Amino acid sequence: MKVLIADQINEKGIDELKDIADVVVQTDITPEELVSSIPDYDAIVVRSRTKVTREVIEASQKLKIIARAGVGVDNVDVEAATEKGIMVVNAPESTSITVAEHTMGIILSLARKISIADKSVKEGKWEKSKFMGSELAGKTLGVIGMGRIGSQVVKRCKAFDMKILVNDPYITEEVASRLGATIVERDTLFEEADVITIHVPLTPETKHSIGKAEFALMKDTACIINCARGGIINEEDLYQALSEGAIGGAGLDVFEKEPPEGNPLLALDNLVATPHIGASTMEAQRDAAIIVAKEIKEVLTGGTARNVLNMPVIDPETLILIKPYFELMTKLGRFLIQTAQGNIKEIDVTYCGELAEFPKLDILTRMILQEILNPILTEPVNLVNAMAVAENRGITVIEGKRCEVHGFDSLIRVEMKSDKNDMVIEGVSTKEPKIVLINGYKVDVETEGHLLISSYKDIPGVIGIIGTKLGEHEINIAKMQVGRQEPGGEAVMVLKIDSTVPENVLDELKELENVYDAVVVNL
Ligand code: NAD
Repeated sequence: MKVLIADQINEKGIDELKDIADVVVQTDITPEELVSSIPDYDAIVVRSRTKVTREVIEASQKLKIIARAGVGVDNVDVEAATEKGIMVVNAPESTSITVAEHTMGIILSLARKISIADKSVKEGKWEKSKFMGSELAGKTLGVIGMGRIGSQVVKRCKAFDMKILVNDPYITEEVASRLGATIVERDTLFEEADVITIHVPLTPETKHSIGKAEFALMKDTACIINCARGGIINEEDLYQALSEGAIGGAGLDVFEKEPPEGNPLLALDNLVATPHIGASTMEAQRDAAIIVAKEIKEVLTGGTARNVLNMPVIDPETLILIKPYFELMTKLGRFLIQTAQGNIKEIDVTYCGELAEFPKLDILTRMILQEILNPILTEPVNLVNAMAVAENRGITVIEGKRCEVHGFDSLIRVEMKSDKNDMVIEGVSTKEPKIVLINGYKVDVETEGHLLISSYKDIPGVIGIIGTKLGEHEINIAKMQVGRQEPGGEAVMVLKIDSTVPENVLDELKELENVYDAVVVNL
């Protein structure tokens, strides 16, 4: 077997591979040389220099695995690899400790004014009284996003005797308490924390999720640190908060535009800035090399890899049977993640009717998990790693089959239990995917566009006031369905609307008399 190391990686990774393969290190390989030599190789390791293009992948003849010794895979054509059944792996956990330690460095630098004191001493000054600092012991740390890196920061701040508050809607109380952290609402975290550190992915939900409103809640001595991704903090609002003294300080390893040329933040003394070096240590590079080398070893000796980024190959007969359910599963997953409240604990999928006899139903379950987990995690969740990612996050996944079903040939029932709500939905894929039950109420809902789901007291006039409120905001209702258990009790209304409902309008709807809840689902 032959492995090509196309970019410079740590020797330890190369040594790991030497037991099972003939390892060729060619770190100056040109794109042309790569295309001509790739047919000889079973595996290739790259960092970011070498581009594994469609041309390279198509030229390969026995390539089984492409390994990126690091995190991002922008330089690998993952789609082309998937089409050819070649696995793409990376090493997402290799940088967690490194980034957590960098975060600690910034926290300490802010607390003890290390970077400005350093500058002052080097300018020949000796301004002892100017740099009065504060201790971390006894202070409160607020962590937004407690995944791989957030958890490592928590462990380190516990050692500094800090009290830990966490906001991460997608982790369980058990996971938090195991690390000695308490889950709190976002506002509580902003109000109570002395140091706030961000470790969430950049998603449409997190983009500019920290701005004016959040700075207004924070203590005027509080510091905020972003070693995650630029764009999560609104930089204009941060500039205002720092320059007006609304907060004490900030530490940024990442910026919305990098390098941050001309960014006014850089002129502020209460900002500590580093040039996106959170992941840059020898150890992270060594670990990335060892992790991917172990993955290659596993795959080339018949085992399975852990950090696979692309889909498995499904045999054609199975594909014909289960393909009609792909869209339904995707839509059910999207529906569930948008209606979930609190930490997801259990996802229970039951395949009913004829479908219960089909093979490879776990692929459909993975498809739902992929839709539920992808919007909230940094690493791509796919059909290969979905079960493992759910398990790592403490989510129990249960798959069941039931033969009987009424009114349809096949039906899929998904129950998602979170610590604040439980959702049960049922879907069918007849001519097109449809949702036919929401929390015990029979409905008949197409799975596209925007839906507004409201629960309310089943008395005259409530439907009217919801419609009027939407009308006031020029939101047009295309279709309406209502369901109730008994007259006068709780009822559910599903409206198909022509545009989504902004957050402020949703809040107004929830405040209407006899309206219990309202949620928007964009499918
Ligand atoms: P992760 O996927 O392990 O953890 C992310 C956590 O954020 C998860 O627990 C998730 O539940 C939570 N989350 C998602 N949306 C949320 C929301 N709206 N509110 C609160 N919590 C939310 O990711 P990770 O590996 O820990 O990486 C964290 C961040 O660090 C990412 O943005 C990543 O890109 C970044 N990163 C930066 C560097 C650097 O060089 N500075 C290096 C590596 C990673």
